[in-house]
Amino acid sequence: MSYSEKDCIFCKIIKGEIPCYKVYEDKDFIAFLDINPVNMGHTLVVPRKHFETVLDIEKWRFGEIMKLTKKLSQRIINATKADGFELCINNKKAAGQLVPHLHIHIMPRFKNDGLKFNWPTKKFSQAEMQKIANKIKNSL
Ligand code: 5GP
Ligand code: ZN
Repeated sequence: MSYSEKDCIFCKIIKGEIPCYKVYEDKDFIAFLDINPVNMGHTLVVPRKHFETVLDIEKWRFGEIMKLTKKLSQRIINATKADGFELCINNKKAAGQLVPHLHIHIMPRFKNDGLKFNWPTKKFSQAEMQKIANKIKNSL
């Protein structure tokens, strides 16, 4: 077990060493309420096995967690009567990942809930846009 796993807060929740408001569990995944919810029902869907980011988890397991996220999103909408919801995965510190154990946020949204998730945008030249599009298209 790596050092980061030993100290991982979500691994501790999975092992039952730290309490949580559990909303779902099976042999591969667990879902619980975020301790600092942006809205009522804000849920984290987490693989039991420790992976840091989307790039680390196996394809099949990522497929399964996305299917589960779809199912739980519907349940959360039903329970909270939310008007919409956002799914979010932060990968690595630079992208705002605070807990280095992969998790998907399901965030219920309500009309006029005052949350603003629209980041300021940047302008790039046509040449720069074409260059990065080609680079992504041609990368393996
Ligand atoms: P990240 O920024 O890594 O995508 O989000 C981590 C999330 O985990 C945060 O929204 C934070 O509130 C939540 N969190 C951190 N520690 C705990 C905890 O001990 N229990 C629960 N339920 N959520 C936590
Ligand atoms: Zn972990």
